[in-house]
Amino acid sequence: MMTRRKFVAKVAAMSGGIVLIKSRQAAAERSAATILPEPREAPEWARKARILSAEYRDVPHLKRAREEFRATVMLLYCCPETTNGWCPAGTWDQIAFFIQQAHAQNLKVVCYYDTTTMEESFLSPERREWVQTTIEGKPCSFTRRHVWHLRYAFCYNTPWSQHVARIARGYAAAGADGIFLDNPNYYSFTGITCFCKFCRQGFKQETGQDLQQADEAVRIAFHQKSLREHVKRVYAAAGEAAPAKQMVMTCNTSNPALPMQRLDNLGQAENVIFRETFAGQKHAKENLRRDAAVFPRKPLWVILTEGSGAKGWTGNAPKAAAQYDECLGIIMELGLCPVVWATIPSQNPLRPGFTDDSIYNQPELAKVVAKHFSS
Ligand SMILES: [Zn+2]
Repeated sequence: MMTRRKFVAKVAAMSGGIVLIKSRQAAAERSAATILPEPREAPEWARKARILSAEYRDVPHLKRAREEFRATVMLLYCCPETTNGWCPAGTWDQIAFFIQQAHAQNLKVVCYYDTTTMEESFLSPERREWVQTTIEGKPCSFTRRHVWHLRYAFCYNTPWSQHVARIARGYAAAGADGIFLDNPNYYSFTGITCFCKFCRQGFKQETGQDLQQADEAVRIAFHQKSLREHVKRVYAAAGEAAPAKQMVMTCNTSNPALPMQRLDNLGQAENVIFRETFAGQKHAKENLRRDAAVFPRKPLWVILTEGSGAKGWTGNAPKAAAQYDECLGIIMELGLCPVVWATIPSQNPLRPGFTDDSIYNQPELAKVVAKHFSS
């Protein structure tokens, strides 16, 4: 994995001088002045949160989630529309009902939405121009091992950003206590991007340069800013729908070495930092300690996920329980906030979403989660 420092150095070497790059990058960052305000401080309940993933079908389990597992927050995977081909979809009525039932158990609800990746069925003709675009002008697409759909990555400088903001407004109006945006990214799914007409126009306006001819480091700074502004726009929309509420705004960081997911960049637009880790990761404790130090005043929520395409947990609750146990031990020791897959996600492309194995029917998993959440 190439770090950003190495990446910038490589770019600088290729284009004839690091001093020049640094000054151009600084100019791009200056011109990328903050437009929208950063989110308010995280609510108090987010600081000691014990978070469980949830689907709509978990409504009957909310009482157990609170009483047996000592959960305080449900991370709801129920989108109001088909989007990324993985997250289960539901209706706005179901979302509102879930939130109401969770609140009745004194549980907060943070709602999931994929802020970047879209399956082809979502790509109606009027949304074609929302897709991240290669330098040759072609739409960026990709496939994932655990989802069979061909997917596209959408660009935050297009009306897609307003669309996500509308979804967030709907979640807040339904009673949500926070928004979790998955897959915030340019670049890593599809290679160098985005050169859509909105990015080209915006870049020209801000810097006077052509995006296609700018140094890569300058483009990265521009797109980092685009992502931050997108997240702030989503937060502002949610806040408009629930002005009295202190909402959580967070995004998945699965790899802080990626330019768009650097915590010191993305974290500016969040009030809770969210870190996805993977089973078997080396130096997990050191990495999490370092991540927590980037924004020491912002809570760090951490989830352990099976690697994309791995199937080690499916039908093997003891293995999953052992890995949950190890990861939760580290998270609790560091005083961070655990996020647990209450139901094991499916890695089967023919059945995206979740499996049928959960803490509600697998005693090994239940025991591990209850032990750590109550510590
Ligand atoms: Zn774009």
